[in-house]
Amino acid sequence: MQKSSLIIVYHRQPYEEVIEDGKVHYRENKSPNGIVPTLKGFFGRVDKGSGAWVAWKQVASRQQAKFERVIRIEDSYGTYSVSRLPLTPEQVRSFYHVTSKEALWPILHSFPWLFRYDDVDWKTFREVNALFAEAAAAQAEEGALVWVHDYNLWLVPKYLRQLRPDLRIAFFHHTPFPAPDVFNILPWREEITDSLLDCDLVGFHIPRYARNFADVARVLRGAEVSAQTQVEAGMSPVGLALSEPVTPTRLRHNGRDVAIDAFPVGANPPVIAELLEQEPSRKLQASLMEELGDQRLLIAVGRTDYTKGMRETLLAFERLLERRSELHGRIKLMVTSVRAASSMRVYRDMQREVEALVGRINGRFSTLRWTPILLFTNSVPFDRLIAYYRMADICVTVPLRDGLNLVAKEYVAAKKGMPGTLVLSEFAGCAVELPQAVLTNPYSARAMDAALDQALDMTEEEARARISAMYETVRHYDVARWAEHTFERFGEIGGGRGKALPSAAA
Ligand code: UDP
Repeated sequence: MQKSSLIIVYHRQPYEEVIEDGKVHYRENKSPNGIVPTLKGFFGRVDKGSGAWVAWKQVASRQQAKFERVIRIEDSYGTYSVSRLPLTPEQVRSFYHVTSKEALWPILHSFPWLFRYDDVDWKTFREVNALFAEAAAAQAEEGALVWVHDYNLWLVPKYLRQLRPDLRIAFFHHTPFPAPDVFNILPWREEITDSLLDCDLVGFHIPRYARNFADVARVLRGAEVSAQTQVEAGMSPVGLALSEPVTPTRLRHNGRDVAIDAFPVGANPPVIAELLEQEPSRKLQASLMEELGDQRLLIAVGRTDYTKGMRETLLAFERLLERRSELHGRIKLMVTSVRAASSMRVYRDMQREVEALVGRINGRFSTLRWTPILLFTNSVPFDRLIAYYRMADICVTVPLRDGLNLVAKEYVAAKKGMPGTLVLSEFAGCAVELPQAVLTNPYSARAMDAALDQALDMTEEEARARISAMYETVRHYDVARWAEHTFERFGEIGGGRGKALPSAAA
């Protein structure tokens, strides 16, 4: 088996599996957005064919024996191998639905009252993380870089370091990282922190999360911040909820250095521009424009999750219709609240609540000619979604807490050259990059009301000026820049043998 110089450990498989004529085919993901294509792009930077990916797949116990664990994939990103960990439905439930989503997720997003402990089987969480580490170790050549993604794989670095001290280990958090006051609720806090301190590089979207992690490592493990830097101008204006003027860049612990990085993932404006130019999108935009007539379109997009602020959005819209009857018949809110695939109770309850609220508001205000809210509960394909973004006068994205929020950046990219207003929660990671948005506090009904009024009453000139300033940021800090930055950081970390990534200098 060819060994790999770069192994990406991410819980999702890097392709879509389709069955045709009884045969399994692995197709490139249809949607050009999302993190998977970006991560696969890294395989183009290492020696040909030497990339590997580790993911899980649910496989019933009786089928595990004949399951093919490692497959070779050839697609437009090159040739790479994919190690699939066959997890039983019980393991998936315990590791993913219960421990990750019911215990870790609420803590990461600072919802401690939703933290559920009783059903957690930490032993299974450890076992699954150890399986990921073993699969990555089996693929890795001497001194390879293993890049682990997200909190559900928090313990992978610990097991990997035990198995292969020679490897370089990087970790990226796609979520927020909470302050010690909240993080320390986790009964496994020391074990998680030690595992992260086994990495060579730990990455976050924004300086605040990096600072929170450094504080956790300091108070729980006595790690020292051995280097820090002033945050780049424009990356963290003073005075916002997530502002952080100084960011840690290195921790020292047990005689080892751990590099810390904060750099937000970007959207992909060139792809968005290209999709908007295509014929089906142009047709959709034209028909939307015709249907809307002189109605103003507001859009709110997200997965159904209590962190996303959909309840707060709908309640604010209801109050708006109560407060300003002149808007009746002249405004429409398009909502996508994409139903979670699993039947987890907390998501099921939230889905019901969103659907009930939409029903209540439509029931109160609809007329024969006008329905105030249009709701989609299935995922809207990305190319359609950006046509909706382009036609929307206002995008309301007000998570109570969000690692980054790509929707906000995609909206800005889709509005290139047009006026448009972004109403954005201060608690979304990207708020520190986009201070020209109408920033609001979704915990406050008054702040939400004021933000909607400000957005609706803004002059076209002001809306143009604000969005074009945001467009410059979104264009500059796009996903390609994130990849470039991250790759540079990989080149800097020494790891076990102090070896640089094969083509880091290329
Ligand atoms: N998205 C989509 N169709 C939908 C709703 C969302 O394609 O109906 C995409 C959206 O364009 C964005 C992603 O899903 O790229 C959501 O990313 P975000 O960072 O906003 O939130 P997450 O779901 O990762 O927490």
